[in-house]
Amino acid sequence: MKSLEDVSQLEGTAQNEMARAFRAMLEGEGQREEARLEAEQKDKLERSRAAVAADETIAEQVKKLAKSLKRRKDKTPRVDDLEPIARSLSKHYKQGRSWRKWLDAAEAMAHEHTSHLGETNGVYTPTDAELRKAIFRYSLEQASPAMKGHIQHLCSCWERYNAEFFDSRLAPPVLALEEPGPSTCYGEFSPVSCFGGSGQIMIRPSLLVGTLQDFRQGNKNKEGLRRFTEYVLLHEMIHQWQVEVAGTPPGEFHNYGGHGSTFSHKANEIGEKFGLPPVRLRNKKSHSGKTKHLPNPSHWPHCVCQPEYFLGAYVPFSPDEDAKLLEDLARILRRHDIGKVERVAREIWQRMQEAEERTS
Ligand SMILES: [Zn+2]
Repeated sequence: MKSLEDVSQLEGTAQNEMARAFRAMLEGEGQREEARLEAEQKDKLERSRAAVAADETIAEQVKKLAKSLKRRKDKTPRVDDLEPIARSLSKHYKQGRSWRKWLDAAEAMAHEHTSHLGETNGVYTPTDAELRKAIFRYSLEQASPAMKGHIQHLCSCWERYNAEFFDSRLAPPVLALEEPGPSTCYGEFSPVSCFGGSGQIMIRPSLLVGTLQDFRQGNKNKEGLRRFTEYVLLHEMIHQWQVEVAGTPPGEFHNYGGHGSTFSHKANEIGEKFGLPPVRLRNKKSHSGKTKHLPNPSHWPHCVCQPEYFLGAYVPFSPDEDAKLLEDLARILRRHDIGKVERVAREIWQRMQEAEERTS
């Protein structure tokens, strides 16, 4: 059955629920619906005229997008690309909120994490190093009960990683459980600390509650969120190592936001010990030579981990998947009865919104 093939492509995307519902519709309810639709032939015909027009517009927009993506080096659709499609869909279905939500998420993802690493020469004075060490010790031994659990855990992870992966060559940083920049940025290494010293790692505390974009669909499993946070720390430690140990050339920070070959080699060396697949040489595909087919180092190690490792807490949002969903949806709309799909879509959107209201 052709229609089921279409739908099976939808499954496995971030919008599993929608895919499942489409499948259910086509397998079971669909037939009953069809019988009912025959009785409503007249009404259907009237509505389908408008629907076909919208359907054609959407199909045209999807085709145009596919064409323009082919020409582009970076094949990832941008928010601007998806906007007209989403607008047509929301106009037709009068259910704009859900689409808007996806677009906002795609836009947030587009702002890749960049830190201000280029500003440094990686030098810290003895006084500075002493101060950092003292603060680190304080966090480990005397942190306030409000922070104790998390900060102590992060500090001990830092010590363990330093020994295991960096030959204990890193000096304790100022490790802050604090929000860095945009919410898509999970952590940040900064060569200048908040009080004017050096070597600061910031880890976003909201990671631990699972409210960020990539965790909203997750199950908020505490251990899963903690594992994710530990890996954010490890990622930032590579940036610390680049600046304070490896003497990474400033160009890598200016051109690749710190995610160039020094970063990737170190990440892959650590990844191998974890049994993780490698990432490409640089965050820009076109600069990555033979490794360009591999995942982006900017998102290491999360991008190469098995999702199961995070115990269901991490369900990354992918603009790629949404572009695919929109494309598949347009195809389904073209092939199947628009009225039927519309009813199911309304139902799903309503359910999604109800679920969202319940959790917010
Ligand atoms: Zn980074």
